[in-house]
Amino acid sequence: MAQKRTKFEFSPSLCHRHIMDNTPQQLSYTGGDVKTWQRKLRRKLKQLLGDTPSEKTPLNVQSIWTKQHPLGSIEKIVFTAQPHADVPAYLCLPKNATPPYNFIICVQGHSTGMHNSIAVDFKTESKKITVEGDRDFGLIAMAQGCAALCIEQRSFGLRQENHQKSSSPEYCHDAAMQALFLGQTLIGQRIYDVDRAIDYLTQRGDANLKRLAIMGNSGGGTISTFAAAVLPRIQIAMPSCYFCSFKDSIMAMFHCSCNYVPALYKYAEMSDILGLFAPKPVIIVAGKNDPIFPIKATQQQFQKLKTIYRAANAENNCQLVVGPGEHRFYANLAWPKFNQALQKL
Ligand SMILES: [Zn+2]
Repeated sequence: MAQKRTKFEFSPSLCHRHIMDNTPQQLSYTGGDVKTWQRKLRRKLKQLLGDTPSEKTPLNVQSIWTKQHPLGSIEKIVFTAQPHADVPAYLCLPKNATPPYNFIICVQGHSTGMHNSIAVDFKTESKKITVEGDRDFGLIAMAQGCAALCIEQRSFGLRQENHQKSSSPEYCHDAAMQALFLGQTLIGQRIYDVDRAIDYLTQRGDANLKRLAIMGNSGGGTISTFAAAVLPRIQIAMPSCYFCSFKDSIMAMFHCSCNYVPALYKYAEMSDILGLFAPKPVIIVAGKNDPIFPIKATQQQFQKLKTIYRAANAENNCQLVVGPGEHRFYANLAWPKFNQALQKL
């Protein structure tokens, strides 16, 4: 007869943790030629991120309005990423710069969306609002002399689910789950939108493509990280409040369903994902007291990322900026590092 037990493990996460502790990550970097390793992991990652359209549809760019701002001009556009998936965006051109512009693609996290990037209210897009945590990415970029394309991510802001009935407990649940049923992931679809945004910037002809950048905080940090890993046209990245270990963040507490890529944990940790961007410059931003992406695990993963960058002869191209607060962006600490790295490109 089994020994009498007084302690039981009823929570599913306990079993998951045990599985994680006993899962060797098959394509994690363990040394050797970085490019060869990147090819293998990138191929697997793209497969896990799910199907993407087999051919690109015309962008069919529509201009909605243009407004002057003390820092430059802001144009609202809509482009078509794929059939029945239109992407609104703000194109911010700084008045203190001339073409070809340094462009940064800005993605908001879980929030009411891209209107935060230019600090106006959601409804009128003209009434000024105060944006907490330096999330007015487009305005800050313009102040730095950098042009910005602030795109709306699927399931946020103007792209929230409004067509079918939803009692979803969070922004992304329906889209994330339905994407999985189709053999896709919401992360993969959001990356596809970024890829089409790059098509738009390329088509414009006024972007310096050698300095093409991406940034975002939280759910925008997620897409900045994964897009950098798989889209070769991105040259510099500034992901914020996302880089950590999967084990200590999205696998350790509640995180939105849009974070999960089927089976990814069997192959790689977060340092491996961002390691796919080596040797290109990355400025990682973190909050010392971020409760959902714990700093200790961020620092440990950063050391692993450094190992990959060192092996790629580019140790100084990966930097970690730690702000003194919680889960937010830290513009004053991050932008000077970003500008320094940009000047070297
Ligand atoms: Zn989400």
